[in-house]
Amino acid sequence: MKIICIGRNYIDHAKELGNPIPKEPIFFLKPDSTLLLKNQAFFLPDFSDEIHYEVELVVKIDKLGKNIQENFARTYYNEIGIGIDFTARDIQKKCKENGMPWEIAKSFDYSSPLGKFIDKSEFEDLNKINFRLEKNAEIVQKSVSSEMIFSIDRIIEYVSKFMTLKIGDLIYTGTPAGVGPVSIGDKLEAFFEDKKLLSFMVK
Ligand code: ZN
Repeated sequence: MKIICIGRNYIDHAKELGNPIPKEPIFFLKPDSTLLLKNQAFFLPDFSDEIHYEVELVVKIDKLGKNIQENFARTYYNEIGIGIDFTARDIQKKCKENGMPWEIAKSFDYSSPLGKFIDKSEFEDLNKINFRLEKNAEIVQKSVSSEMIFSIDRIIEYVSKFMTLKIGDLIYTGTPAGVGPVSIGDKLEAFFEDKKLLSFMVK
């Protein structure tokens, strides 16, 4: 399986990093070796001094598809979850400055903690999913899916023009504003409304 991550999908986050607002979705891949499951602890890697959390809604693809139209995209997923796209911001900055790919800033082992999934039928409206991230019991990121520049269905249409989506593929749909660093001893917890779906320690 592959993990597809959307960049700059919230206006407030694009602005906080000084990036322009994209006209089409921007995406990149992470390998399955980045997954961190079952609320296991995340160990800070030694190659970065600035690991940032990015909380994101995650869509699990459950049907094979290529060239999917936006109005059919909803039939390609049944579950929505929440995850963190850990980013070595110091390394990413250097990669960007040098016009290099940023894989080493994003695709290192266990950089994609993933929480529980919820059946999409449990949401009244997929465009009104309120979610948040707490660090040490304080809210650091909070948003609603309606704030996404490109909706889940639009993302599926766009990505599937270029690559076949397979059962089990995950789409991390981008992060809202409020990204920031983690340190040893931090506890990160991610929620949909009042449901805690992810909780783990940084070590
Ligand atoms: Zn991200």
